Amino acid sequence: MSRVAYVNGRYTPYRDATVHVEDRGFQFADGVYEVIAIIDGRLVDEEGHLVRLERNLDELRIAHPMSRAALRVVFAETIRRNRVRYGSLYVQVTRGAARREFPFPQGVRPTLVAIARMLDWDKVAKHAAKGAAAITAPDLRWARCDIKSVGLLPAALAKQAAKEAGAYEAWLLDENGLVTEGSSSNAWIVTRDGVLVTRQLDNAILSGITRSAIMALARSEGLAIEQRGFTPQEAFEAREAFVTSTTSFVMPITSLDGRPIGNGAPGLLAGKLRVLYEAYAGHQAAGTLPSAPYLAP
Ligand code: PLP
Repeated sequence: MSRVAYVNGRYTPYRDATVHVEDRGFQFADGVYEVIAIIDGRLVDEEGHLVRLERNLDELRIAHPMSRAALRVVFAETIRRNRVRYGSLYVQVTRGAARREFPFPQGVRPTLVAIARMLDWDKVAKHAAKGAAAITAPDLRWARCDIKSVGLLPAALAKQAAKEAGAYEAWLLDENGLVTEGSSSNAWIVTRDGVLVTRQLDNAILSGITRSAIMALARSEGLAIEQRGFTPQEAFEAREAFVTSTTSFVMPITSLDGRPIGNGAPGLLAGKLRVLYEAYAGHQAAGTLPSAPYLAP
């Protein structure tokens, strides 16, 4: 089956899917993106992702490429044409293509790209059953990490450092030594008292849609949640740790910088939240549950 990408109004064979050399996404990282899980051919938390996308476009004063309803049609069609049942949808919007000048160009249409690809959720689940390692790395990103910008170089550097250390994720540390989030996930610990701790929503982290869904599931289970930064030392003393994201759901973190967290095995609460989230995501995609909201900082 030949793959197809949506590029500015056309469904194009993947190998020919290109944007202009002077696209501002290419020259200035002047754009935003979303990654949305696909379960049984349908998107998980599409509404939450759309609200976040529009909010981020507004923060950067990039025009909306089309209405929310039209975007839904493009997303569904991109999934359908690629026959993806289980996978992810990547969506990118940039300010558009124009002669290279720093100020915003006038009268330029935003660039819209959508790519659907398969993803083996069973493989991710098997990884989660084993747990994953994380390292710490300095948070070298900009002061608006609440915006899901395509300026991902610091995240790529941190992820590469994790890979070279044989780890799955890098937990980023702010200037006070507090964990902000993972390079592509939100970071959580469970204290010895069973309290869930994850950083508060501010400009230092991305408000994850998975984080929002997990927060609601945890509350419905009567679990206590504290939204605050925590140190690596607190993680070492914690009962368990995990990360949440669209492509990992809930991934237990069993070691940090080579030192075990808890008993070095995936935590019970992370396992429980993962089971709850898998069920939630299936129902959400099928349309029998409302989307997790985008929680604005
Ligand atoms: N934080 C960062 C920096 C991310 O890149 C991501 C996802 O890619 C997340 C958090 C998790 O967000 P979501 O749950 O919406 O995928």
